[in-house]
Amino acid sequence: MDLTPALDAELTGSRPRVDREAQALVGSRCSVCNTPSWPARAVCNRCGSAALRTEVFAGSGVLITHTTAHVPLAGLAAPYMLGQVQLDANGPLVFGLIEGLPPDADVPRSVRTVVSAEGAVPPYRFHDR
Ligand SMILES: [Zn+2]
Repeated sequence: MDLTPALDAELTGSRPRVDREAQALVGSRCSVCNTPSWPARAVCNRCGSAALRTEVFAGSGVLITHTTAHVPLAGLAAPYMLGQVQLDANGPLVFGLIEGLPPDADVPRSVRTVVSAEGAVPPYRFHDR
């Protein structure tokens, strides 16, 4: 397998992770096995191919599971909800902050991606649709 293209790939830290206009996450998709990754990768984590393309993922998904954290983080007061979201259109499974739902919210349920202002932490979150 030719991994040479991975050497020429943009460094992970300098690749876009969000698209503010689309209110969506930006990652990569493998051209060989179609596996999506967020953040973008230089080499596919499933098949090892370096044939990856940048993709703006769907701005919606399905909240699969969630939990409430009671330990504050820098810039994030407790309690807050964290969850796993399966992005639509065969997107990646992403972990993130969930806002606007009660602690006992039923899953699965549809959510939408909300991209934060430039430099804000976290850079994205998910809201109830
Ligand atoms: Zn692959």
